[in-house]
Amino acid sequence: MAAKIVSLVNQKGGVGKTTTAVSLAVALGRRGQRVLLIDLDPQANATSALGVSGAGQPGTYDALLDEVPMADCIVRVAEEGVDLVPSSAELSGAEVELVPVLARERRLTNAIHPIRDHYDWVLIDCPPSLGLLTINALTVSDSVIIPVQCEYMALEGLSRLMETLDLVKRSLNPGLHVLGLILTMFDARTRLAQQVVDEVRGHFPQTFATIIPRSVRLSEAPSHGQSIFRYDQGGRSATAYDAVASELLERAGVAV
Ligand code: ATP
Ligand code: MG
Repeated sequence: MAAKIVSLVNQKGGVGKTTTAVSLAVALGRRGQRVLLIDLDPQANATSALGVSGAGQPGTYDALLDEVPMADCIVRVAEEGVDLVPSSAELSGAEVELVPVLARERRLTNAIHPIRDHYDWVLIDCPPSLGLLTINALTVSDSVIIPVQCEYMALEGLSRLMETLDLVKRSLNPGLHVLGLILTMFDARTRLAQQVVDEVRGHFPQTFATIIPRSVRLSEAPSHGQSIFRYDQGGRSATAYDAVASELLERAGVAV
């Protein structure tokens, strides 16, 4: 069975894309799923969050632009069941370098194709933009997960994101759909956070039932190169991301 390919996308910065990509990858890996996490962001936050340095080894840039087989760009990480295609600062040139390339929207599709059968899930951590890197991710994905921060202006940019998804659906990838929105950084002490939850759920019924709490432990984990499941095992953030993984498996019709 070919892997289900899911992109974590939102052009708004700092909403929890990377945290969700890493935590979900690990949550799925711990349930015996084979997961490949592709770091498609030149900031390389997912790479460092898993304790890997993308410098000096082939990664996403090489798979996209130098035709290095993606299989040769894969790094095993310390987390059970999770492989990583690392990113590095070099990838920041890709937005521009891809422009004149033939079939530039399908570079990632072509790169993933040979290894798709090796995994149950491929998760793609997108950069905070709707440029060619994100378009490549949307073109190869079965679905997207949209992290939304429970803060003022949470819905800002979502209509533009939905337009982009529609455009890609019409021109490049008819099967693309929104798997769900994930509410992140929820602070139960503020009334605003609850308002955002109600508003997002009102607009988007496909929002995951599980809400990710704002948690200091979650923000500390990346600096230790550890997922939340190692840094604060059994804590409320790990428990929340594990519950999202359950919802994801249920929505995907996978029984584990
Ligand atoms: P970018 O758009 O820059 O790629 P992003 O959408 O990937 O950002 P993250 O990097 O996941 O967002 O999160 C932004 C910051 O917020 C990071 O410092 C992260 O550690 C922190 N963070 C993410 N989720 C939470 C949370 N639930 N509670 C507290 N801090 C969080
Ligand atoms: Mg990120």
